[in-house]
Amino acid sequence: MFAGLTVDGTTVTSLNDDSTIEVIFGADIEFRCSACGADLTETSDGFDDDNGESDCPAYLPDDTDTGTDGSGPHTPERVALSWCNSAGIRSNETDDAITLSLSTGDPRGAFTLTIRRVPDDADSPLAGRLLLHLPYPGEPMPHDALHPLHPGTFVIGRPAPATRAHLTAA
Ligand SMILES: [Zn+2]
Repeated sequence: MFAGLTVDGTTVTSLNDDSTIEVIFGADIEFRCSACGADLTETSDGFDDDNGESDCPAYLPDDTDTGTDGSGPHTPERVALSWCNSAGIRSNETDDAITLSLSTGDPRGAFTLTIRRVPDDADSPLAGRLLLHLPYPGEPMPHDALHPLHPGTFVIGRPAPATRAHLTAA
């Protein structure tokens, strides 16, 4: 089997029969200020930049800010893809399988999606057929908890917020 690795459409190298490709995200920073661009650390009462400052040098007071000295807090926004530790592709010719992996929790593990072919000589009605293995709720040793949202979509980690309850008089 020939397999080549391309990055952004450019062929980088050809691969061995069994290969592991991994994209690592060095995202220790989860929040960044959308006004001044500083990396932010969440504290008990807001967000501090690398200098420990909670005041933003790019803060723009609006007209409704009367009686203030014109200073204000950073504007935190989540850094895109900071939820991902790594994404990978592993091909295994011995198992006739390819596994995709996405790590969002413990960086030593990952959610995996595997397609493998049952050997043609297997004593099974599935001989020669392709099987798709997916993470599922209640899986032993899960990468993280999965909570069904709708078919094919799960909420990772904590359960989805309950649908809004009817407001009733106490
Ligand atoms: Zn700022």
